[in-house]
Amino acid sequence: MKRVFIHTFGCQMNVNDTMRMSEALGSMAYTPTPTADNADLIILNTCSIREKAEDKMLSALGRYRQVKLQRGALIGVGGCVAQQEKNRILERVPYVDFVFGPDAIAKLPEIIQRVDADRVRVVETAWVDSERYVFPSADPNTSRGKATEFITVMKGCDNVCSFCVVPHTRGREVSRPFTEVLKEAASLTTVGVREVTLVGQNVNSYLGGISFAQLLLRTAQVPGIERVRFTTSHPHDLSDELIEAFRVEPKIMGHFHLPVQSGSNEVLKRMRRTYTVAEYLERLEKLRAARPDIAVTTDIIVGFPGETDADFEQTFELTEQVRYAGQFSFVYSPRPKTGAAMKEAEWGSVPHEVKIARLERLNTLQKRISVELNAASVGQTVEVLVEGSSKTDASRRFGRTSHNRTVNFDGDAPIGALALVHIEHASASALGGKQVSVESLPAIVIPEAVVAPEVCVA
Ligand code: SF4
Repeated sequence: MKRVFIHTFGCQMNVNDTMRMSEALGSMAYTPTPTADNADLIILNTCSIREKAEDKMLSALGRYRQVKLQRGALIGVGGCVAQQEKNRILERVPYVDFVFGPDAIAKLPEIIQRVDADRVRVVETAWVDSERYVFPSADPNTSRGKATEFITVMKGCDNVCSFCVVPHTRGREVSRPFTEVLKEAASLTTVGVREVTLVGQNVNSYLGGISFAQLLLRTAQVPGIERVRFTTSHPHDLSDELIEAFRVEPKIMGHFHLPVQSGSNEVLKRMRRTYTVAEYLERLEKLRAARPDIAVTTDIIVGFPGETDADFEQTFELTEQVRYAGQFSFVYSPRPKTGAAMKEAEWGSVPHEVKIARLERLNTLQKRISVELNAASVGQTVEVLVEGSSKTDASRRFGRTSHNRTVNFDGDAPIGALALVHIEHASASALGGKQVSVESLPAIVIPEAVVAPEVCVA
């Protein structure tokens, strides 16, 4: 039995790809190991959304060089950086044995056999045509021990946001047939999974035989599925039908991640986001009419080329107005081949110290809002799907509310149970409390231990 260590950078799509890599390698008798030190094969599943993620990949490769020298471990680089920068990786890091793109996961056994047999460096970054693309199906056994799991429903993106590398690294949109999605959801329930998150770069433009709203409703009807979530959405695809699904189906959880990116119409235009702030707010208003308590989170880029103080103030005001439950805000960094990178000189770079000062202001505001929103839960009893032990205190339990709020609590509820928890305190990032009651779980006894892929959210 050989051991594989997969270091995952970036988004949930990459985490999911890592699971599929592990499964593909299982067919070659590779078993996952939680540390690189005893691995026979090390794979970096990379992300190129931000510059920092690439730097982290290079520094991780530097660390794994020692394992190569001592154990002769094979080292491969997959994911978005591999797709975009294959030549640069091979030149800069001579001990990388193979490079493969997101469409080549199913070919991993074949690639490793070629490296092993021929002792050559292998590059496999060709796109698979949309018509011929087959989504790797998940092996439900790798999800044993989890209450919640992700299902890939589409890949790629047909939008052309000027800051984004996804269309260059993941290609055009391909939707997975809805029958396959429902089959995967059903198979996950056989190992105890009760919540699924449907993932893709732009899920609400899904075209897998039914609309995305119908896909959510059908998934919610799969016996054994108690909760359905999804990520990520583009505001211009937030249809009335999807909003209606939130109104009629309580199993669709009360959380919507709706990236706005900026509160300035001028910046949105340069970002090629195809909506105005007013249109974004109109969609949000409709959504909140359908599900009044919905928690909304967002992504914001600070310091996009040409962003003035006045543009930034509008983003600041929008954050205050919407009262987001949380936001992922980052300073702009140019990504290769994107429209914004090519136009930066014309639009004007924002100085680094200005970007950082704006980001700090925004983060401080968001923290204050998150604290206020979470504090409103103190004294209430909330329903939590239990995911395991608390990461900060193993004697406590951990789960999430419908609104995707993290809850750490005193209790004994098993993984996969829905527990009622009385909330006693709150911070910007989590709630804390005591278990009041827990449903009995008749069907499946779930073991605690699973080897989770190492994730670096960059
Ligand atoms: S919709 Fe999202 S994934 Fe697609 S190009 Fe825009 S930012 Fe990138």
